[in-house]
Amino acid sequence: MVQNLPVKTLKHNDLTIEGYSRAAVQTYWRFPELKLGFDLGAQPWSFMGTETWFVTHGHLDHIVALPVYVARRRMMKMTPPTIYLPTATIEPIQKILRQFTRLDRGRLPCELRPVEPGDEIELSRELVVTAVATTHTVPSLGYVVWDRRRKLRGEFQDLSGDQIRDLRLGGTEVTEEIRRPRVAYLGDSSPAGLDNSPIMYEAEILICELTFVSPDHRKDKIHKFGHMHLDDLLDRRERFHNELIIAAHLSTRYHAKSVRAIVERAIPDMLGGRLHLWL
Ligand SMILES: [Zn+2]
Ligand SMILES: [Zn+2]
Repeated sequence: MVQNLPVKTLKHNDLTIEGYSRAAVQTYWRFPELKLGFDLGAQPWSFMGTETWFVTHGHLDHIVALPVYVARRRMMKMTPPTIYLPTATIEPIQKILRQFTRLDRGRLPCELRPVEPGDEIELSRELVVTAVATTHTVPSLGYVVWDRRRKLRGEFQDLSGDQIRDLRLGGTEVTEEIRRPRVAYLGDSSPAGLDNSPIMYEAEILICELTFVSPDHRKDKIHKFGHMHLDDLLDRRERFHNELIIAAHLSTRYHAKSVRAIVERAIPDMLGGRLHLWL
């Protein structure tokens, strides 16, 4: 397999998290078991087989590889991918694709689907994605991936199979829908984006942006530019009910070593071992 870009991998329960994210460089994530990815700031060759993507916003480090990805799938004779994007990004991206087609004389077949906050996207019977509003400097979205099951209602738990079948045949709804937020992906956002969608705090895995960690980077400015600071994480430490909190999108102003040192000094227990720095 061609290795054209860095990819870090982490296993959590039955899910594999693959990705890379540094501010102003490039951001891309993939969950192979869920058959979906987030953001197209670059496209590792190994990610090409995943045909469903969710883009958070139109900044180059999150979207610029979209034409490359679409072209590669066409070249490899794969089906056109489906890419979900904030509505405001659709028209500019369509124009960009047309210009690349002029340059390269190759078609760029893909399905671009506009997404608004609150939208619900059914990927399969068991898999649903919802979009949430985030707070950045351009139209932006976060995404939550849900596991959806139907379960026998509590009041019928003690009935026999025959009794349940009779109820069902009589028109009674014997099951109920159970949803479990598995992955929450914030994308780029100030802390308000997290606070406005409390479900982010409940997902099994949260991928949270943490662009700034240094005490001398001013928070008011950081928030204005639609990003988060380590202090924002600290202020909310009791709110995180996630099993795993991935902090990513760190500024290139920091070396990995200094990020680790600053974060471990501020949060010595690393949120009970749940906080993972994506470096
Ligand atoms: Zn970014
Ligand atoms: Zn951005």
